[in-house]
Amino acid sequence: MKNTFIAFVLLLHIVSGLYATKDKSLRDALEKHVQILASDSLEGRGLGTDGAERARKYITDQFSEVGISPWYKTSDDYFQLFGLRRQLIWAKALNIVGFIEGSDPVLKDEYIVIGAHYDHLGFDFDDKEQKTIYPGADDNASGVSAIIELGKHFAASPHLLKRSLLVIAFDAEESGLLGAEYFINNLPIDPGQIKIMFSLDMVGMLKTHGKLDLKGINSAENMLEIIDNLAEIHNIKIGTTGNSIERHTDTAPFGDTGIPAVHVFTGLKSPYHKPEDTYDLLDYEGMVTIHSFMADLITRISAMPEIVPDAKSISDANNTRIKRAKRMYTGLTLNVGSGYHQYKDEFYRANSAVIGAVGLFVQLPLSRLLSVQQEVIYDLNGSKAEKGVFRRHAVTFPLHLQFGTPRISAANLRSYVFAGPYFRYNFAGFDGETPLNFTIYQEQEWGYSLGLGFDIFDFSFGYSSRSSLTSLFIDNQQPKVFDNNHYFSIGYRF
Ligand SMILES: [Zn+2]
Repeated sequence: MKNTFIAFVLLLHIVSGLYATKDKSLRDALEKHVQILASDSLEGRGLGTDGAERARKYITDQFSEVGISPWYKTSDDYFQLFGLRRQLIWAKALNIVGFIEGSDPVLKDEYIVIGAHYDHLGFDFDDKEQKTIYPGADDNASGVSAIIELGKHFAASPHLLKRSLLVIAFDAEESGLLGAEYFINNLPIDPGQIKIMFSLDMVGMLKTHGKLDLKGINSAENMLEIIDNLAEIHNIKIGTTGNSIERHTDTAPFGDTGIPAVHVFTGLKSPYHKPEDTYDLLDYEGMVTIHSFMADLITRISAMPEIVPDAKSISDANNTRIKRAKRMYTGLTLNVGSGYHQYKDEFYRANSAVIGAVGLFVQLPLSRLLSVQQEVIYDLNGSKAEKGVFRRHAVTFPLHLQFGTPRISAANLRSYVFAGPYFRYNFAGFDGETPLNFTIYQEQEWGYSLGLGFDIFDFSFGYSSRSSLTSLFIDNQQPKVFDNNHYFSIGYRF
């Protein structure tokens, strides 16, 4: 009996020892990732910098070493390349997308995303040309370190996953969640196949924060019971929960698509966006606790019979979609073309003169395909006449109803046709050398426009024709003469 007892104590000792070693090596691995990603040689992982390139090299080496596969079938690396425009220059940005297949023959076609942005603020120079690096240890080397180790955990034990897991290091988060947005807008699968997303963004301060925030966890139904149970098992306090999705991390573009999305977060406890956000300040024991908790949480969620978005998160996503579709644009329009007068009764057409117009527009989408555009333009119209060139200066108000393709978000690309009435007020002009007398010529004119065009990024290019329905002359006894304009136009949206 005594021997059995000693053997049991010994066994307990070995097992707990094994656990301690496991925790110790996990702790060290988590620390090593952060230390490297937040080191000076990576120069703050600024968008499009060599430092970001070195970060990608490290992350993909780790993904590959721990057994995370590249996801995109079209390439043999992990990268999803996208360019993005900063003012007039293009920066290269790359998401790193890894994959671990689920073990259930049916559920493996559904996905859980664990994401962490790897970009940070890079570096800058002060007035004395002194270089300051923003290492971004907590923001967000901590999250990247966490997803590498979670990926390692599941790659080593894929039977723990029923659904498939996407392990993603996002780029361009600090520039406005652009990596996550690009990812969700360019999926090779149906967005509905992604059932839940976690953004691990700043997870290195558990002890200081005293709890782990899971903001948005209730954007999927039936999560609270699992969370309570796991919190108890892992002896971790859960802070913020709820069904509102955080808008300041990569969760937002997923939430806007109707996918439950959770910000895994230990608060703004580190020197946020400061050069002092260094690796030595982080709580790596806390990261081990978060790792174990998240590993079990993902295992449980991956085995749920179904993952259902809660009603509020669906209605929020719909509202965002509607609001975005109805976003109003204002801009500047420049038109150059040719004008001529048509003598309706005499089947005569005057020769063309060069004309131009410049003004402002407001564009308001009415639905996915329909928009309305109101313009106010200064308009110099005209035609060749007997005594030289006939010119009128006018203020014109064209109203266009545009029917077009939905916007493709990355390039903001859209093509359309339009039609609509215009009102023109002619306030000055010359027939050759003679000033126009507006007791003879119409001041007010009505007509219609027809045209087509396309938008790309902040620019619009188009062709339009404008034809008057009221004659040039007030007196009915005068011949009926109608103004016609053809324009090429360039627009710029503010
Ligand atoms: Zn961040």
